[in-house]
Amino acid sequence: MDLTDLRAAFAGRLLVDADAMSPFLTDWRRKWTGRAVAVAQPDDAAGVAAVLRWCRSQGVAVVPQGGNTGLSGGATPAAQGHSLVLSTTRLQRIRALDPVGQTITVEAGVTLQQVQDAARDAGRLFPLSLAAQGSCTIGGNLATNAGGVQVLRYGNARDLCLGLEVATAEGELWSGLRALRKDNSGYALRELFIGSEGTLGVITAAVLKLFPLPAAQHVALVAVPSPAAALALLALAQQRLGAELTAFELISEACLALVERHVEAARRPLAEASPWYVLVELSSARGEAAATQGFEALLEAALEAGHASDAALSSSLAQFRSLWALREDISESQGAEGPTIKHDIALPITRIPDFIEQTEAAIARHFPGLRLVVFGHLGDGNLHYNLSPPRSGLSAAEFLALEPPVNRLVHDAVDAAGGSISAEHGLGVLRRDEAARYKPAVEQRLMQALKQALDPLNLMNPGKLLGQRDLNHHHASET
Ligand SMILES: Cc1cc2nc3c(=O)[nH]c(=O)nc-3n(C[C@H](O)[C@H](O)[C@H](O)COP(=O)(O)OP(=O)(O)OC[C@H]3O[C@@H](n4cnc5c(N)ncnc54)[C@H](O)[C@@H]3O)c2cc1C
Repeated sequence: MDLTDLRAAFAGRLLVDADAMSPFLTDWRRKWTGRAVAVAQPDDAAGVAAVLRWCRSQGVAVVPQGGNTGLSGGATPAAQGHSLVLSTTRLQRIRALDPVGQTITVEAGVTLQQVQDAARDAGRLFPLSLAAQGSCTIGGNLATNAGGVQVLRYGNARDLCLGLEVATAEGELWSGLRALRKDNSGYALRELFIGSEGTLGVITAAVLKLFPLPAAQHVALVAVPSPAAALALLALAQQRLGAELTAFELISEACLALVERHVEAARRPLAEASPWYVLVELSSARGEAAATQGFEALLEAALEAGHASDAALSSSLAQFRSLWALREDISESQGAEGPTIKHDIALPITRIPDFIEQTEAAIARHFPGLRLVVFGHLGDGNLHYNLSPPRSGLSAAEFLALEPPVNRLVHDAVDAAGGSISAEHGLGVLRRDEAARYKPAVEQRLMQALKQALDPLNLMNPGKLLGQRDLNHHHASET
């Protein structure tokens, strides 16, 4: 591979040394490791386009990478070592902020936290929020259509984006940085690149939506007897709080017990254990008193209707944070118990109670002893449907050997309920082939046709997102 031209154009911004490249070749969870011819770190959009033109001329595949926090292996190059990692982390400028139009224009390598901070400094809210926000980039958030905890109110990354600038596979720069809320002037190309996991082009900048900062925020941990009761509470909260309802998270008793066991500072705010809980967040423009009153009235009505058995409402910032921590610390606490099997699934919301009941019974039947760790963004129909090994009697290797059949059981049930096997983490390599099993053949052919049109040489993140499947085969639930 002749890197002379690239070295000359990107002096100091092209890594070829094994040690310097290694952080870019392994993912956050150290689940995948690959090799690459080089890591390029251009510092502007024109540089990204130039790297792509070089790759095209040499027939070298490109793996776009932002903060490298993705959970599906999409940003890790393949083991063969024929591709180039294109890191966007030097695309660092905030190009514009319009507090009245409520938009911010940022380059792809700006971290999510930096966008939130810039918005807050201008008295505005950028509502996308997730645990990796200090490291993940806006480019990566858009490329995976990230979700997080406030999708219920503000939508996912796709809903928060008005315009994009993209370096195409051909190495051209498309400036679609329109700060327009209405634009019916043809195909919505922006939508194609959002959620495409680097397989169609490289996002170099975006126009994002901002919102007013809430005047008051409260959260309550509410004990509920069942997922069905949690849904009844959701309907009540939507009716009473309207747009003030900003998060609605489901937590099982097993999750809370894990956090209590592994996080020293964790305190259970309710006296009695309950099989399920929801964390309800309210954000109000009407000020402290109105927010507290509205929330208390909701909780009273929920207790009266039997949708809830107890509730603890935050009355200070410290309490707000410690209640949220009970939800945010679940993943890490589960990890502290040993190996995990995880699913990031979406379901039509009303089917969630039946799904939980039936799938738990099926798992107990086929895989006795496995422990369920179920939580998630109930208001968005998104569950993190996780499993841990039994406390004894199964080695880590034996447990992990069960992953394929457990995945099949869970994902077949998701498919039968009209759901999706990837709600917010993308397909990457993790779910690529499973998605090919469930997506209708015609949908896969349309996706392949788009890929062929936008990336005819198959150089943009090949081997990610699009699975290999005989497209003449029937879809699992078409037969
Ligand atoms: C602790 C933790 C918590 C998380 N919580 C959530 C959560 O609550 N909700 C949620 O949705 N996700 C969550 N995630 C995963 C989430 O998808 C990522 O954190 C984030 O969106 C990815 O951004 P990144 O910059 O790290 O992208 P990377 O990991 O670098 O890349 C992810 C994918 O996007 C592509 N890509 C990256 N940048 C670009 C670009 N500029 N143009 C084109 N393609 C690009 C890559 O090729 C890859 O396929 C979490 C991850 C961690 C580690």
